[in-house]
Amino acid sequence: MALNLNNARFVASYGTVESLPQPTTPEVAFVGRSNVGKSSLLNKLLGRKALAKVSAQPGKTANVNFFEADGISFVDLPGYGFARVSAKERQRWADLISGYFSQDRSFNLVIALVDIRLEAQSLDQDMISFLKENELPFVVALTKADKLSRSKASQQEALLARQLEVDPQQMVITSAQKGTGIDELRRRIQEACD
Ligand code: GDP
Repeated sequence: MALNLNNARFVASYGTVESLPQPTTPEVAFVGRSNVGKSSLLNKLLGRKALAKVSAQPGKTANVNFFEADGISFVDLPGYGFARVSAKERQRWADLISGYFSQDRSFNLVIALVDIRLEAQSLDQDMISFLKENELPFVVALTKADKLSRSKASQQEALLARQLEVDPQQMVITSAQKGTGIDELRRRIQEACD
C-alpha cells in the first residue's frame, strides 16, 4: 500500500532526552544545520503548510518535535550549528541529538539535510560520519535546489557526494518550494518503514 501522509499531526515537543516518549512506531528522523530548510521540507513532505514552524530567523529553541502520519513517527531534531547561541545552549542541542540516537529506538531512516548550494560544511561532515559510524540508515536530502539551474544542481550533487563520501544513490535533490524530490523521499521512507 502506498504511504499516506495526508493525516499528519503534531504529537509533542521534548526539551530533554529523558522526556522522549517510548518508541512504539517506525521512526524517520530529520537532522541538519540550522536554516537548511528542515521545517519547510517536513511541511512539504507531510502536506501541511505550517506543521513544523518555518523560521524567518534561525535559532529557535532546541527541542525534539514528534509528528505522526500513517503509523510512522517523524522526528524533527534540533538544527545544529546556529552560531548566535551560547556554548551551553549549543551543547544542549548536541546532547539532544546524540541522546536521541543513543536510545533503543526504531531508527528506520535518517534524513540528513544539506544545502545544495554550498560545499560540504564541517558540521555536515561530522553528522554524516556520525551516521555512518553508528550504522544508521540514512539519505542525504540536498535542499533549496530551486536556487540552482538543473545542471548546476547535479554538479553540486556530485561534488557533495565526493566531499561527504556518500554514494550518489543515497542522495535526493529536493526543493520544498517547488516540490522537487518529495515523491522520491516518500518512496525511500516507505521502503525503510515496510
Ligand atoms: P530550518 O531552520 O532548517 O527549519 O529551515 P526553514 O525551513 O525554517 O527555512 C530556512 C529558510 O530557508 C527560510 O527563509 C525558508 O523560506 C528558506 N527555504 C526553505 N526551503 C527552501 C526551498 O526549498 N527553496 C528556497 N528557495 N528557500 C527555502
